[in-house]
Amino acid sequence: MKSIYHYVDGAVFKGTTDKFQAVLNPSVGKEQSQVALADKADVDHVIESARKAQPGWAAMNPQKRIRVLMEWIRLINANMDELAEMLALEHGKTFPDAKGDVMRGVDVLEFALGAPHQLKGEYSYGVGTGIDVYSLRQPLGVVAGITPFNFPAMIPLWKAGPALAAGNAFVLKPSERDPSVPVRLAELFVEAGGPKGVLNVVHGGKDAVDAILDSDTIKAVGFVGSTPIAQYIYERCAATGKRAQCFGGAKNHAIVLPDADIDHVADTLVGAAFGSAGERCMALSVVVPVGKDTADRLRDALIKKIPELTVGHCMDPDADYGALVTPEAKQRVEKLIAEGVDAGADLVVDGRELDMSGREFAGQSLAEGYYVGPTFFDNVTTEMSIYTEEIFGPVLSMVRAETLEEATELPNSHIYGNGVAIFTQNGGAARDFVNNVQVGMVGVNVPIPVPIAYHTFGGWKASAFGDLNQHGPDSFRFYTKTKTVTSRWPGDDSAGPQFTMPVMN
Ligand code: NAD
Repeated sequence: MKSIYHYVDGAVFKGTTDKFQAVLNPSVGKEQSQVALADKADVDHVIESARKAQPGWAAMNPQKRIRVLMEWIRLINANMDELAEMLALEHGKTFPDAKGDVMRGVDVLEFALGAPHQLKGEYSYGVGTGIDVYSLRQPLGVVAGITPFNFPAMIPLWKAGPALAAGNAFVLKPSERDPSVPVRLAELFVEAGGPKGVLNVVHGGKDAVDAILDSDTIKAVGFVGSTPIAQYIYERCAATGKRAQCFGGAKNHAIVLPDADIDHVADTLVGAAFGSAGERCMALSVVVPVGKDTADRLRDALIKKIPELTVGHCMDPDADYGALVTPEAKQRVEKLIAEGVDAGADLVVDGRELDMSGREFAGQSLAEGYYVGPTFFDNVTTEMSIYTEEIFGPVLSMVRAETLEEATELPNSHIYGNGVAIFTQNGGAARDFVNNVQVGMVGVNVPIPVPIAYHTFGGWKASAFGDLNQHGPDSFRFYTKTKTVTSRWPGDDSAGPQFTMPVMN
């Protein structure tokens, strides 16, 4: 059985523990490799390598650093198919979707090529006689990223790209469920000319994370994952004086007004609710049609479209989406579906009925894969667990509302506030909605409003802890500290010692 190890100083590091965790192939439901799990001593070794490498990297001028990033981008693109297949086989998402995962990460690397511009400080000439004030943006030192399973290329690159471009060394602790792509990305960074030790990868679970959080060398932590862990990491970073941005779970609503093109909405909803088996923090998992007629028309359209979906092996070009990441993830989704039924929701399409026995792809049986079919509930109400909890599976819940105000109140009172969308042809209604809704990322006739790389990405409420978003200009603010210099030339000390607060005359 293949083993996946840590990547430190440009080489494989086997670590000192004999702890491993199985890495699965969700499409066929089999273990395919095992990943080494680090303990504190291993993590400290990885951090120490980064600490030694960081000053030399920071001393390179920003243009030289971004030339390494340019070559890194070239190599990632040149190896796109290999990366996407590796990713799909560990995650279960389809090959084209896996390519999208890598490409949305590359987008942020491309944005990070603007580092020389982003790192420019401010300058005020002549604020007093012979006195100038200017500011520098300096790297923090060694920073860490702790990332989730659902975007094993995109999110590590969202974190590492701007951090590295700003002159930091980066320790990545990716998800232990799909660890291969992060290692391959770090290898490509070194192949691109990145100094060894500047980008290290360490695998592990809570022990490894806690060792990162307890390290005095780590100056900032960028986390993405579930809300309870996001909050834990944010609080622990605050206690040790580390900068932290921690992004959590989601429950994204789509509001559909009576004037929306229902057929188009049904198409986009099917993609946004079931794509990647619903394992996206921006998946649309709740649809809120306004008015009975809108709801009935949308229900009919969804009933027609959902059975047309093909669920299958990640490499099957006909598959619209693939398996969930683990058997536990499948069981959890099925448990929540059962809770929805028990609570009285109307189960219109039951994905638990999907039968993969007898299905094969490339000679491999799919019977043991972790598949759940597309599931659609109508008449969901706000106290049901299928509404309050993030399901993270291919389950779409319809909550009916009578007015736009009632519909808007749903995302506004939900604990999560990651993404939301409104479908309408009424510009005024959409504009008011954009202004009033208490959610960080809003789509107008766009189901998954993931901002492009030069804007920022981040939710509100329990979807994010911290004040700066991911990518865009915020990422450079997060990964740098400001130094403000007040300078006087030539030194003129003729006034003697000053005992009052200096003021600019
Ligand atoms: P997770 O919280 O289980 O794991 C995330 C990371 O935390 C992993 O690296 C994992 O090893 C580590 N971790 C897990 N348990 C830990 C513990 N007890 N102590 C310390 N570290 C621990 O999340 P996941 O299942 O990998 O990812 C899915 C979640 O991520 C969903 O909730 C999804 O909404 C969220 N997500 C959010 C965004 C966003 O930008 N808001 C983006 C992608 C995913």
